[in-house]
Amino acid sequence: MSSALQVMKFGGTSVGDATCIARTAQIVAKAARDNSCVVVVSAMSGVTNRLIEAARKAATGDSSEGGNLINVLRRQHAAAIEALIQEPEARQRVMRLVDAVLAEGRRLCDGTALLRELTPRTLDEISSLGERLSAPIVAAAVSTLGLRCESVDATELIVTDAFHGGADPHMELTREKAQARLRPLLAQRIMPVVTGFIGATAEGRLTTLGRGGSDYSATILGAAMDATEVVIWTDVDGVLTADPRLVPEARTIAVISYREAAELAYFGAKVLHPKTLNPVMQAGITVWIRNSFAPERAGTKITPEGRSIGGGVKALTAIRDVTLIAVGGPGIVGLPDVVGRTFSTTADLRANVLLISQSSSQNDICFIVSASDAERTVEALRKEFAQDLAHHKVEHVTVVNNIAIVAVVGENMRGTPGVAGRTFAAMGRENINLIAIAQGSSESNISFVIEDQAVKKALIATHKEFGLDVAAPD
Ligand code: ADP
Ligand code: ASP
Ligand code: MG
Repeated sequence: MSSALQVMKFGGTSVGDATCIARTAQIVAKAARDNSCVVVVSAMSGVTNRLIEAARKAATGDSSEGGNLINVLRRQHAAAIEALIQEPEARQRVMRLVDAVLAEGRRLCDGTALLRELTPRTLDEISSLGERLSAPIVAAAVSTLGLRCESVDATELIVTDAFHGGADPHMELTREKAQARLRPLLAQRIMPVVTGFIGATAEGRLTTLGRGGSDYSATILGAAMDATEVVIWTDVDGVLTADPRLVPEARTIAVISYREAAELAYFGAKVLHPKTLNPVMQAGITVWIRNSFAPERAGTKITPEGRSIGGGVKALTAIRDVTLIAVGGPGIVGLPDVVGRTFSTTADLRANVLLISQSSSQNDICFIVSASDAERTVEALRKEFAQDLAHHKVEHVTVVNNIAIVAVVGENMRGTPGVAGRTFAAMGRENINLIAIAQGSSESNISFVIEDQAVKKALIATHKEFGLDVAAPD
């Protein structure tokens, strides 16, 4: 191994069953020939969803779903262990670890059912189980190829705030802990296989980084360990010009800038957790997205500067499951602090505001939040503006559901006139109604709001308009 350090993250499908884990182990072994490696793994695909479902069911007093799931998970993980690990002692050791995690899961579900209460902290404990099951199996599978491995719980490495369900790292403390725990392993040529998705507060309370958060774990560790690069192994060839499930003509992008990739992630491209690039931006660490099912393909390289392209538009994305909230009425013209009060309310809630639009008449401020944040945001705004609503200075706090944001992304859109015109003309031709429009001052993103049912049509039309289906931008 050289001094170059690579953090490699494998998503749920890349560790989905024994065959996938075996392929993943091969990829790891190959990378370990030229680099020191830290491996980060997700739960086997579908496991986190099912854990969360069982936790919610338990909160209604029904622990049977939890019990059933524990049995299903035991079978699923035992099958992978049997297929991957031949050596009886190693097999038993991993099975004991799996059983200990499952026993904890059972206690957590039973406790939740007994209390009929699911706190964010308990939900984090339950949803973390998938990664705690998969990491020891992946470590053992890589060991069978002759490498020394140790599975490490990320609660020992990543120090976060206490925001359960979407915690953020404390980078200084994380650096200290991760270096202290992982450097000695790497020095002995032992490869750490770390649970993605989870961390712990400074007091040691387990947290999760939000759904899809293992990507974020990888870049947090990449930055904390001064990695040379971070490679995110997934089930597609890289970052594509659009979500391939919605736009079959989508193509892989060879090189993309941090800013572009971050915009795509932020506006719903599931291939990257929205915060993935934050930790590595400052240090300029290269991030790759590659296909674990086709490791011979190059993938997408995410770099500080990307690569310039002629047309300006690099990729499209859509974010669904969002809600538009409007605060307004003619009376708000005379209320100079409505904007300030609206957004300090959303900030206090940590609601994720995805787009803001205000017309010059100032009759309405409308903004978009994730649907999961909508109810509590509206509740808090009605409270904040209770007096003004009563005196009709603010006439309404209203909600529009079943909408989506489409974002057109590309750094070179800056200074390329006509991108907005072409986009909206394409929407006009398709008869798609634009509910709101926003363009960031960075001009690397034009986003607009449409009805959710028109998303696929809008993406396909815009993709075609900018020729993204013809030549892959690189
Ligand atoms: P993993 O389990 O490896 O983390 P995810 O399911 O979270 O994988 O993310 C990969 C998926 O993201 C792809 O299978 C694809 O359907 C979806 N996706 C959405 N938008 C894009 C895009 N622009 N480029 C690539 N994949 C995308
Ligand atoms: N297993 C977690 C999830 O499903 C984290 C991840 O896959 O990145 O959200
Ligand atoms: Mg993911």
